Amino acid sequence: MTATTYTIRVASALLGTGLTPIEDASVVVRDGRIADAGPSSTVASDGPEVEVAGATLIPGFIDAHVHIGFVSPRDVLWGGVTTVRDLAWPPDEIWPLVDRSTAADFEGPSIIAAGQMLTTPGGYPTRAAWAPPGTGYEVASPLDAPKAVDRQLVQGASIVKIALNPPAGPTLGAAELSAIVTAAHDRGARVTGHIHGLDELLKALDAGVDELAHMLMSNEVIPDEVISRLVEQDVTIVPTLAVRVDDLSVAIENTARFLVAGGRIVYGTDLGNEGPKPGIDRREIDALHAAGMSLMDIIRSATSSSAEYLKLERTGAIAPGRDADLVATEPLAGAASLTTIRGVWRRGLRVR
Ligand SMILES: [Zn+2]
Repeated sequence: MTATTYTIRVASALLGTGLTPIEDASVVVRDGRIADAGPSSTVASDGPEVEVAGATLIPGFIDAHVHIGFVSPRDVLWGGVTTVRDLAWPPDEIWPLVDRSTAADFEGPSIIAAGQMLTTPGGYPTRAAWAPPGTGYEVASPLDAPKAVDRQLVQGASIVKIALNPPAGPTLGAAELSAIVTAAHDRGARVTGHIHGLDELLKALDAGVDELAHMLMSNEVIPDEVISRLVEQDVTIVPTLAVRVDDLSVAIENTARFLVAGGRIVYGTDLGNEGPKPGIDRREIDALHAAGMSLMDIIRSATSSSAEYLKLERTGAIAPGRDADLVATEPLAGAASLTTIRGVWRRGLRVR
């Protein structure tokens, strides 16, 4: 049993929502939450001191696109990801797991979820080989949309997910899509989408979809005027570049141009599919770096700015009052340091 109050001392830490680098830092943890954090010279340590010599302490990563049912939650946490957002899984499995993850001693990350993916009858993912029955929910007419949205939100969905994936079946019509987005927005929820190509992207933008759960899956270059429209409509992109088994270059280029235009990127891997590994994913980090993000940009997109976007007030920063969701890494110098992990804490419990 870990002492309920202790002080972590490290060579450096990224503190506060601004991720300010501080040398020789101390973080006081009390009852699972951060009580104080700052330079060791100014922080009054409390309880036993836990030194991770030479390490850098960062907030635990948030992966905004996973299918947690495919992997061991323990492996995800062990790899430095302390919060995940599941983007489609059968309700009888995902909601009990979401509940269990709220326990402080759950051996895995904190889990939020979308519930089922809303689609047209016979559309993706209802016939996808990867998706267990119930992963999708069919919306046959605009009149069905409010019920479909309520079905997810009443169980605790943090976002509503839709699919527009023509290679895998028919897709939602404009009227159904618009009715889903309106129903979600009326209830204060955002809509994220699996959007295959440019035609589907325009349909999603017309309907007011808030987020892309992947960069376009087709290898189409997004025209400048559509990039501008994404930014103007405040659309967030979770690129999930790690999931692409083929050529990454167009997806990286689209991500880069979206960033230059001022777009918001939130870190996510689509864990559970081929490609991404449980934990902080080296392939995703390398691809985001190739799209022009610095190591600090990438950390921010997976911690403080992700938490702000996802409205996760308890995590995402090393700051008083937040959960002690923490990762100790090698000193930050390139992507490899982020996946060379020396300690992981979730809600103050050290798991490695
Ligand atoms: Zn996915």
